[in-house]
Amino acid sequence: MKRKKKIIILGAGFSSLSASCYLAQAGYDVLVLEKNDAAGGRARQLKRDGFIFDMGPTFYWMPDVFEKFFGDFNRRVEDFYQLNRLSPSYQVCFGTDDYLPIEADLAKIKNRFEELEPGSSFKLEQFLLKARDYYDIAVKDLVYKPGEKLTEIITPATIKRLNAFTRSIKKDVARYVKHPKLQKVLEFPVLFLGAKPSNTPAFYSFMNYADFVLGTWHPTGGMFEVAAGMYRLAMELGVRFAFNSPVDEVVIENHIVTKICVGQQEYECDVLLSGADYHHTEQLLPVAYRQYSEAYWKRKTFAPSALLFYVGFDQPLKDMEHHTLFFDVDFDKHASAIYDSKQYPDEPLFYASFPSKSDSTVAPEGKEAGIFLIPLAPGLDDSDAIREKYFNIILERIEYVSKQNVRSHVLFKESFSVSDFVSLYNSYNGNAYGLANTLLQTHVLRPKLRSRKVKNLFFTGQLTVPGPGVPPSLISGKIVSDLITKHIAP
Ligand SMILES: Cc1cc2nc3c(=O)[nH]c(=O)nc-3n(C[C@H](O)[C@H](O)[C@H](O)COP(=O)(O)OP(=O)(O)OC[C@H]3O[C@@H](n4cnc5c(N)ncnc54)[C@H](O)[C@@H]3O)c2cc1C
Repeated sequence: MKRKKKIIILGAGFSSLSASCYLAQAGYDVLVLEKNDAAGGRARQLKRDGFIFDMGPTFYWMPDVFEKFFGDFNRRVEDFYQLNRLSPSYQVCFGTDDYLPIEADLAKIKNRFEELEPGSSFKLEQFLLKARDYYDIAVKDLVYKPGEKLTEIITPATIKRLNAFTRSIKKDVARYVKHPKLQKVLEFPVLFLGAKPSNTPAFYSFMNYADFVLGTWHPTGGMFEVAAGMYRLAMELGVRFAFNSPVDEVVIENHIVTKICVGQQEYECDVLLSGADYHHTEQLLPVAYRQYSEAYWKRKTFAPSALLFYVGFDQPLKDMEHHTLFFDVDFDKHASAIYDSKQYPDEPLFYASFPSKSDSTVAPEGKEAGIFLIPLAPGLDDSDAIREKYFNIILERIEYVSKQNVRSHVLFKESFSVSDFVSLYNSYNGNAYGLANTLLQTHVLRPKLRSRKVKNLFFTGQLTVPGPGVPPSLISGKIVSDLITKHIAP
């Protein structure tokens, strides 16, 4: 019998899990080596005193991408986890008692728009028609291209919509709505892509279609359950996993990876696919085989890092929703602190999630699980004193806007920040979610899925194609698997 080609996958994040399933299905012998003790990568789970926290992603968007993934294996999402649509999808807090809920019903969203700006519901309809058009072009086609040649994305459809690539989403939104609150709401989804709205092409307004029309969902138990489901699927397909296996060297001879080292342990392989941070993986190679210099990485716009808190409360907090965005201070000043001055913001915007509002499995009865996230410039110092300072700022702000005592209800808190991203995930400068999707960091202009210097070395994940986020990571795993199959048959 013909020997199956052996693929080693570095890391067990979403992109690696996705690739492992496709590659096992294609007939390769797949072994995943993961530094940490569980699958999921940045979708790590924290359990404490009966509380369960997602330490990374919390927004489940683009359910069609997940359906497609499981469908490719003749399985359904519900075979692996239970999904509920949130209503409201989220709310935005603009100040004391000033909340704008984004309902899971477009007619209700339009009413809210109309209340704030007469005539804006019609404008929103027009905006979403265009966003839907971009969604169909992007998510059904373009994002599945490997980014090898520009011609992959120069199609009659994209040429006709060239403006959408040259104009920023900020400018585009301003053409449709004038009210600052509505502008902020429409600019919010592209923050997932890691750059300022003024630096993100209008084409990415397909994220607004995902937001307002496809909705925000929640897997019971949290986002970690998605990774756990993909892990189970991978095991069923015959993928093997070795946890607590930090790869520390990649041995290359004549432009071919021959083995991978985890301490004294050596693994031979025919193909190496890395789903770990791209920059980190290149550090494991002999210098001559690295494709990108330190200067290259320094020039890039990275998605923000973050300061996160996971907090157990002894009672539910009033006025908070499952997802609440605190846009009650100057958005542009905070964005400038992240991307321009690269400092701590004086008055941070932050995001709060209380998953126990809609999922009774994540907190003991009568208690509340809170997750807080302040986006930060990567590379900042994150001492205990700084963490404490910002924890107090967050709680004070919630107390101020919702007129309730929050601090006395904290049972415990844990934090996670820049240095933890580095030590736990080998993340470049502690970035939280990879390389931003600016115009100059899109598609063919992103780090490549296939090494130009090493014949059997491939990359996947949020630093390569198509970009940051859980759905793009699933897609990245599929594209790279197709590429591997094309170049090195099983
Ligand atoms: C705080 C936060 C909030 C987010 N919120 C959302 C959200 O709401 N919705 C959304 O869609 N996306 C969100 N994202 C983004 C999303 O989580 C990521 O884009 C996605 O999980 C990245 O997956 P990945 O496979 O590319 O990388 P990772 O998850 O980083 O996986 C890489 C894996 O490689 C391992 N590794 C590293 N070095 C080695 C080594 N030497 N040897 C072996 N293994 C190694 C790491 O331990 C890790 O497990 C968020 C991210 C963060 C951090």
